[in-house]
Amino acid sequence: MSNFTRRLFIFIPFASIINFILKPERVFASSKDSQENWSLSKSEWNDKLSPEVFNILREEGTERPFSSPLNNEKRKGTFYCAGCNQALFLSEYKYDSGTGWPSFWQSINSAIETKIDFKLIVPRTEYHCSRCGGHQGHVFNDGPQPTGKRYCNNGLALTFKPE
Ligand SMILES: [Zn+2]
Repeated sequence: MSNFTRRLFIFIPFASIINFILKPERVFASSKDSQENWSLSKSEWNDKLSPEVFNILREEGTERPFSSPLNNEKRKGTFYCAGCNQALFLSEYKYDSGTGWPSFWQSINSAIETKIDFKLIVPRTEYHCSRCGGHQGHVFNDGPQPTGKRYCNNGLALTFKPE
């Protein structure tokens, strides 16, 4: 084997490792950019959303149970954030919790972030869209397997696109 071929053999795997290491960084950088595009002021959100949706997404409001048509949505498809259109849940993750709010046992990877909220004195885990920060609902530990989670979501905070 010539010196050149040997170097080539070493270089190719090295280059793909570098590419592998750099790629997530690029993805991260671009998602950061789009996150900045979605940090709007309260009045900008107010212009963009209906008063009901604004109250939920930007003021952590809660809709009346059994008020959302998405509660009974059973078609195959994807649920998106009503603020920024980021995909949050797949229809496969939805189940009937009987609570009157659309419920899911899992979210799409990294589409939501959580925080602890003390609004009802007893701490609850609030969750929101990871891109625009829009409030979606609360997550509880009484959901079905395999996660045991119940993402209790406001229907007005979501849009649904059937497949
Ligand atoms: Zn969003």
